[in-house]
Amino acid sequence: MGFTKRPTFRVERDSCRCIDCGVCVRQCANEVHYLDIDTKEVLCDSTNCSNCRRCVELCPTGALAVWGAPQETSGNAAWAVHDIRAIQAQANSGGILLTGMGSDRPMPGYFDRMMLNASQVTNPSIDPLREPMELRTFLGRKPTVLQLDDKGKPVDLPPQLELDVPIMFSAMSFGSISLNAIKSLAAAAESENTYYNTGEGGLHRDLYPFGKNTITQVASGRFGVNIDYLNAGAAIEIKIGQGAKPGIGGHLPGEKVGQGVSETRMIPLGSDAISPAPHHDIYSIEDLTQLIFSLKEATEYTKPISVKIAAVHNVAAIASGIARAGADIIAIDGYRGGTGATPLRIRDHVGIPIELALAAVDSRLRDEGIRQEVSIVVGGSMRHSADVIKAIALGADAVYIATAALISLGCHVCQKCYTGKCNWGIATQNPQLVKRLNPEIGARRAANLLRAWKHELKEMLGGMGINAVESLRGNRLMLRGVGMMDSELRILGIKAAGE
Ligand code: SF4
Ligand code: SF4
Ligand code: SF4
Repeated sequence: MGFTKRPTFRVERDSCRCIDCGVCVRQCANEVHYLDIDTKEVLCDSTNCSNCRRCVELCPTGALAVWGAPQETSGNAAWAVHDIRAIQAQANSGGILLTGMGSDRPMPGYFDRMMLNASQVTNPSIDPLREPMELRTFLGRKPTVLQLDDKGKPVDLPPQLELDVPIMFSAMSFGSISLNAIKSLAAAAESENTYYNTGEGGLHRDLYPFGKNTITQVASGRFGVNIDYLNAGAAIEIKIGQGAKPGIGGHLPGEKVGQGVSETRMIPLGSDAISPAPHHDIYSIEDLTQLIFSLKEATEYTKPISVKIAAVHNVAAIASGIARAGADIIAIDGYRGGTGATPLRIRDHVGIPIELALAAVDSRLRDEGIRQEVSIVVGGSMRHSADVIKAIALGADAVYIATAALISLGCHVCQKCYTGKCNWGIATQNPQLVKRLNPEIGARRAANLLRAWKHELKEMLGGMGINAVESLRGNRLMLRGVGMMDSELRILGIKAAGE
């Protein structure tokens, strides 16, 4: 016996406003709207609606609305409707439940319970409109002693990434998102002098011109990795884990491996792209050291090497090992980090919040006296500039954003990326859908987002009486906790509000 698939969302059409123009029929890749041949009326079947809101936004008469559908079961305090639905779906399919984007569980976020300081009488605030504010950030190993040449310029500096704003676009592969989405982010990174990250999908030939703003990733599948790829970017990131699926690999189904993805990943057309859970040549910190130095050798020590991990238990000890293995940057992805496709249970139940992971890592590296040997970049649900500034005060050098960047391109966080039918042309390889995202417009919008956050960062810094982001880094005195337990305050290394 199977359970009938019931709609999660209900599409409502206001017949007084609808002019049967058919825009919604053409815009919905889930075939929710259809034209009744006999009556010439546009109708709909809500069953497959993902609430991506494409039809709502594009309906020329504002005739459409999408609501949460009433559920046939109300659940109770112990059994939530979504848990009952999940069991029904698994009883139907016998398979794991897939989802996209970051966890949407109502787990309290620590950023929301941390408040920033502001100057009042002494150490007055700075007006960022009239006084210079420095957001420039350098990522990479810092020397313990600065050697200067006879003109006073530093010599023998380890390779650094230079960012005008301490925000980068996180790893999203060609395959999981469209080439137009990546082009948008690459161009925005170039215009704002920051970086985007290829993810594990290789580097499409159209993206080579953006090399100086590119971080190329080396993941367990080694898709698209060759010497040209390694040399094309400004830095290389070894991906060990990601927040949305710590401890497991990835799988890009063959139907998404079209000509472009196949060439870029260097895999046969239409074949499944499997990223194993581990790197098959890394079983110890010594093995990781070998890979880090192989990549440094291959690129003649010109590029910083980052190692990306998921925030998990013992993350501080893991980060210490990575720093000692020779990494120049450690990227940590919190449990709310997004993805194109992940098993629901892994996404929602594995890993730890980025705030705790970051504070623990920064404290450990400081305690061990090796903090300057490595930069820390964090990601996993940076929703706005206040999250960014709190992350920096907790100890991050810079942050990665991904979901926020995709929202700037049009994403409405429907979490159905894994279906490959993204109506906004982002998480899809369908040529008809891909062309809905104009990379020039996308680049402008993503750059606008960075510029807007940059203004806000300066405002908040100025309010604290600080004129350079460097002076905020790890300055936890600028944070106070509200409604936290002593153990949480201790790990975060901050005082309670009022103290
Ligand atoms: S897009 Fe709007 S006006 Fe056009 S058919 Fe759909 S509901 Fe009606
Ligand atoms: S899936 Fe998106 S485009 Fe289709 S009906 Fe639902 S909201 Fe509209
Ligand atoms: S990228 Fe597309 S499919 Fe994924 S959440 Fe955003 S709108 Fe939905």
